[in-house]
Amino acid sequence: MRLSELKQGQEAYVVKILGHGAFRKRLMEMGFVRGKLVKNVLSAPFKDPVKYSLMGYEVSLRRSEAELIEVVAESAEIPLGFSEQHLLANDDAPIHTAVDLHRRTITVALIGNPNCGKTSLFNYASGATEHVGNYSGVTVDAKEGSFTHGGYRFKIVDLPGTYSLAAYSPEELYVRRYLRDETPDVIINVVVASNLARNLYLTTDLIDMDRSMVIALNMYDELQESGAVLDYELLGGMLGVPIVPTISKTGEGLDALFDTVIRVYEGKEPAVRHIHVTLGEDIEKAVGEIKTILKADRSIFPQFSPRYLAIKFLEKDSEVEEMMKQLPQYDELCVIRKLNRDHISKIRQEDVGAAIAAEKYGFIDGALAETISGEHPTSNRATAIIDAFVTNRLFGIPLFLGVMLLVFWLTFSVGEYPMGWIESAVNWIGQTAAKLMPPGPLTDLVVDGIIGGVGSVIVFLPNILILYACISFMEDSGYMARAAFIMDKAMHRIGLHGKSFIPLVMGFGCNVPAIMATRAIESRTSRLITILINPFMSCSARLPIYVLLIGTFFSAHAALVFFALYALGVVAAIITARLLRRFVWKKDETPFVMELPPYRVPTLKATLHHTWGKGKQYLKKMGGIILVACIIVWALDYFPRHDEEPSDRIAEAQVDDSRIDISHDSYLEMIGKAVNPVMRPIGMQWRATVAAIAGVPAKEIVVSTLGVLYAGTDDIDNQTLGAKLSAGSRPDFTPASALAFLVFILLYCPCIATVTAIAKETGSWRYGLFSAVYNTAIAYIFAFIAYRVALLF
Ligand code: GDP
Ligand code: MG
Repeated sequence: MRLSELKQGQEAYVVKILGHGAFRKRLMEMGFVRGKLVKNVLSAPFKDPVKYSLMGYEVSLRRSEAELIEVVAESAEIPLGFSEQHLLANDDAPIHTAVDLHRRTITVALIGNPNCGKTSLFNYASGATEHVGNYSGVTVDAKEGSFTHGGYRFKIVDLPGTYSLAAYSPEELYVRRYLRDETPDVIINVVVASNLARNLYLTTDLIDMDRSMVIALNMYDELQESGAVLDYELLGGMLGVPIVPTISKTGEGLDALFDTVIRVYEGKEPAVRHIHVTLGEDIEKAVGEIKTILKADRSIFPQFSPRYLAIKFLEKDSEVEEMMKQLPQYDELCVIRKLNRDHISKIRQEDVGAAIAAEKYGFIDGALAETISGEHPTSNRATAIIDAFVTNRLFGIPLFLGVMLLVFWLTFSVGEYPMGWIESAVNWIGQTAAKLMPPGPLTDLVVDGIIGGVGSVIVFLPNILILYACISFMEDSGYMARAAFIMDKAMHRIGLHGKSFIPLVMGFGCNVPAIMATRAIESRTSRLITILINPFMSCSARLPIYVLLIGTFFSAHAALVFFALYALGVVAAIITARLLRRFVWKKDETPFVMELPPYRVPTLKATLHHTWGKGKQYLKKMGGIILVACIIVWALDYFPRHDEEPSDRIAEAQVDDSRIDISHDSYLEMIGKAVNPVMRPIGMQWRATVAAIAGVPAKEIVVSTLGVLYAGTDDIDNQTLGAKLSAGSRPDFTPASALAFLVFILLYCPCIATVTAIAKETGSWRYGLFSAVYNTAIAYIFAFIAYRVALLF
């Protein structure tokens, strides 16, 4: 009987809790554990909630919640169908009480597509002789049978075949009503082994429901005959559902199946894990918003998980709609749904229901691609044909490298043109401001500090936007998922997952949105490592320094040095990932699905939208941290004030050997000179040190600071500045020290925006601090090696 049937003053023992996983967990945490005595202390008729006492304290439960708790009165008789002999078969859990006895009854429901072999399984297990047919619609309603196995009594229910849990066909509605009203203990999802791409769709719906479940991989004989090999244990690990191969025609595998059902029922099956079939950023955002409202009142529809309800509500499922109408939050929910639906269908140019289905098929295709070897049909033919080339073992990686080269070429070569326009515009604004304002410190602040500083950064906006447009295009077209897929094996070598790959590529643009993109990684330790190694991906802010120094000192081998720097960043990332896996977070073996969405031509709207979403991060950084940093660097360089003309300072800078004159140093110079002894071993002189320190707020500031220090202005072209860097008989920068400086800038402390992003995304400032200290140490070591080795030549 159910707890809701208990009258006031009556007592009973808890047998089990039904409903979705999170609900079960919550009630168990409240103390509704097997064998505990509960008493109904106060329930007026029609009154909701009802007060119960449990383990000496009172709890109130909604009637809807109490309906999902199975209880038994002390005096209850031994349930029908049990005999001593059956029960003694299982001796690891002795039977003392009526609770134990009732606990030994497991209700299982068979759910699967039409013709997947449910009725055959049902007949074999229960000894019944239901009609088996090779056409759909044979089973019109539920058939119930029972049998004993492993010391348990099974009540097994054969449900009509369905392709999904949408509320379209009478069969689908029937199955859903059954799951809502009867709440079986364990669902056996029967799937056809040789047609998983289609059969697993229903499985994704069931996963959303978050019920206890086992997958019967039926018609396993046909799969074996076809020659394909399925790693069903890995697949089960990815889905968080144990998979047992069966041949229900002959009964093979059914013992193992029911053993697994018992383990799942008793909470002893290690393969059980609650996962989310992820639906893409925009849909997940909508689902999250709806879920938040549903979760506020935890007693709403405890039969269904909030995620399932949220997805169905977003899809405008008619039955869930009726359920939601009863809620006081219905109007609010509708507003949220409308906003999100409009947004999703505008960006994706397809209906939300179709978008969700596409995402689910992408999840299934990804899971199968990783677990099936040999011929297998995917859900989409065109996708299969393209994939044959794109994820090909021979062409896959060269093709990907080619694509990346193209992306970088577009970013940096094509990006030069708008860069030039922005440069002239910034100059013009600066000159105009200088003309309009009276000379004095305020004008200097505006012209040199703000316009000059922010201007030197904003010129990279075109590069960033082009890079993000390319990345968005690759993501929206479905190619990025394939790139992640072919890189998966390599990523596993450093203890990460293919999913870490996209954030790492994005890091070449800007580490801030890249670190935010790690949210798609399910494994916490993989995510932390991906975040911490991301700053080693040389972001585009470091590019101007490379351009300046490589152009000045290594122009003969420019491309080679460029490439070596990027590669060094990757090497530092790999070393760090390995160290972290070795000493901090041991390898995480939980398998995750890498979704393979169908290929599609990205819409201009979607690409622009996503590009803008990422570019906004960069602009925010500019409006905030970089602006403040520019003002601070400018002020540190500007004060303390002395009367000399700027031209004197330039002249002074050009006197090569006698830079000892420190009588009128700016604060910036004082800091640089104080820290410099530490930097000498890696070949850095005080101006370089100052530039590196100034670059901590944002790497873009390094070059403009060098400009100020060597030329008295940041408005200077690379050639002139480069000549100044290497001027004199004992120049500040030699090829060796320039190389060490490049290496140092590549690897040292991430910019403030990145450190902030690390702290925010990991939820702890400790990681931000770690990143700052560790990266600087690594940078120092590598720069030292680079300097010493370069000196040998
Ligand atoms: P239902 O619609 O899910 O109830 O499926 P049925 O139990 O009616 O089975 C449909 C057809 O598949 C029947 O012809 C069965 O004999 C056949 N079948 C069931 N299980 C297996 C199996 O494991 N292997 C093979 N080869 N055929 C099976
Ligand atoms: Mg049937």
